[in-house]
Amino acid sequence: MQRIYLDYAATTPVLPEVLEAMVPYFSGEFGNASGVYSWSRTARQALDQARDQVAKVLGAQPEEIVFTGGGSESDNLAIKGAAWAYRDRGRHIITSAIEHHAVLEACHWLEGQGFEVTYLPVNGEGLVDPQSVKEALRPDTILVTIMHANNEVGTIQPIAEIGEIVRDTKAVFHTDAVQTAGVLDINVDHLNVDLLTLSGHKLYGPKGVGALYVRKGTRLVPMIHGGGHERRRRAGTENVPGIVGLARALEITHSERESENARLQALRDKLISGLSAIPYTRVNGSLAQRLPNNVNVCFEFIEGESLLLTLDMRGVAASSGSACTSGSLEPSHVLLAMGLPHEIAHGSLRLTLGRGTTEADVDYVLGEIPQIVERLRAMSPLYRG
Ligand SMILES: *Cc1c(COP(=O)(O)O)cnc(C)c1O
Repeated sequence: MQRIYLDYAATTPVLPEVLEAMVPYFSGEFGNASGVYSWSRTARQALDQARDQVAKVLGAQPEEIVFTGGGSESDNLAIKGAAWAYRDRGRHIITSAIEHHAVLEACHWLEGQGFEVTYLPVNGEGLVDPQSVKEALRPDTILVTIMHANNEVGTIQPIAEIGEIVRDTKAVFHTDAVQTAGVLDINVDHLNVDLLTLSGHKLYGPKGVGALYVRKGTRLVPMIHGGGHERRRRAGTENVPGIVGLARALEITHSERESENARLQALRDKLISGLSAIPYTRVNGSLAQRLPNNVNVCFEFIEGESLLLTLDMRGVAASSGSACTSGSLEPSHVLLAMGLPHEIAHGSLRLTLGRGTTEADVDYVLGEIPQIVERLRAMSPLYRG
């Protein structure tokens, strides 16, 4: 049977070159980077090189990079760490309604700790208006956190413009760039950000490793206390193979992004136009400000879950939104924030393409989905097609 993976926004396979770069550090060169002997020096050199590689892609200094245990941890460190560090200056935080749960739940937790959070709305295309950030800013705003691109609908937010607005205030600006690293320009000076989150497994590196860019002079209270690792910003023996893998993966995807983006965008557009031809179908999210690999559509009168299960039986791995919410019957918070009614948000399908996706995969999916949708609708009491 066919086996077609179209869930690259959920996770990606480790590239062979990345795996190859990681392997020596599991067993042969297994030293703890904190020691004084040769095993440690080798590990430390690998860490230094990885830090340089990541810093270079971000246009940052190596000492501004903190390695973490993943995107969720980087988001938590950025948000809780900055909130705690600046709490004497103010208690107000601004974010958007469509953030990843790692950001939203960190903000919810801070609300219970005496902070106040403004959740900015998005328009029908899933975009944050920079003017709304400007209007929400207050003298006691200490942190603004807006994602670079959304993981469900692929919308790319005007981060550079928002950063320019925030730069004129005392607030710190964080962006979650998990979905854009290796895809778009993530130079921290172009984006005007103070904090930026990355995750290894969304860019063809390993799971359980991430990075946080911390602009020089930006204060953070650590979330994990212990040894003095990562310049006292994140305790714990460094995950040397993971960090080496993240850095190599970022380097490769970043340098090859232009040709890969063009290839994926053509496949994406073929999928979008093919799926749009199905009656009562809508495409979610801006078509202009969109990741090159994201397709998100709603088929009215059907449940996203039944569609996913049928696709799985035909060998296609897809998602109805974020991996964190599928399995529950709650519709996506992103689609609801964009103004879609509950019953339509339930029928959503996200296909995210990647390095392994071929035109034959797209053609197969375009052959299957219209029949599946028609069959599921025929069983729906609401549909009179
Ligand atoms: C996947 C994802 C995260 C979480 O990263 P993990 O490494 O899985 O913890 C955070 N933000 C966005 C936008 C994501 O897509």
